[in-house]
Amino acid sequence: CGIVGYIGPQQAAGLLTEGLARLEHRGYDSAGVAVLGSRLQVVKKAGRVRDLVDALPKRFAGKVGIGHTRWATHGPANDTNAHPHVSADGKVAVVHNGIVDNAASLRERLTEAGVELVSDTDTEVFAHLIGLSTADNLEAKVVDALSQVEGTWGLAVVHADFPDRMVVARNGSPLIVGVGDGEMYVASDLAAVVRHTTTVAHLDDGELATVTATGFTTFRQDLTTTTTTAREVDVDP
Ligand code: GLU
Repeated sequence: CGIVGYIGPQQAAGLLTEGLARLEHRGYDSAGVAVLGSRLQVVKKAGRVRDLVDALPKRFAGKVGIGHTRWATHGPANDTNAHPHVSADGKVAVVHNGIVDNAASLRERLTEAGVELVSDTDTEVFAHLIGLSTADNLEAKVVDALSQVEGTWGLAVVHADFPDRMVVARNGSPLIVGVGDGEMYVASDLAAVVRHTTTVAHLDDGELATVTATGFTTFRQDLTTTTTTAREVDVDP
């Protein structure tokens, strides 16, 4: 339902939960955040963003992270089904808006490959497919996963082995990249980032972006680069 992500010099957790709170008007049943510091940490809860904030541990450090408010389509609203979803090795975290149409067959294939799926969601397959990809960079791993998925996505990914970046993707579910002052945001909705920046790039369907603390680059699923740029957007005062 709602996605927000941050990378920059500040601690991510507070910025993520603040962004999620600004998406509350969209309606949702669960919320969660992942931050990448010395390790990947995930907290997710059915209920309100306030319940999530109350559940965050004192030590929840990381200057890159992703957050989500969920509107359940596959599996009931509970803590396990809330996003982010994590790969079996604990290195990959993903948040997802949309629907994986071939989730049943992908879950079956992953189970046959020895992966234990922990949630009832369609989204969890992204985390495992990225985690299992043998491609050598995060962009290629995400593309590898997307090539196996049929459906719609606004997607944001962090990976413990690639702590200097987020990779995001759009196909049928909006995804924007916000350019801050020495920091970068991603979101499904301008409302989540407008307090921090009004310079945003809108991804096209089939497009992905690599977002670092200092900028972003966009590309297609065949890994060829695109020229999507950030522009000033008008916002009502
Ligand atoms: N299909 C996913 C789920 O049920 C994402 C739902 C959403 O867009 O919030 O978990």
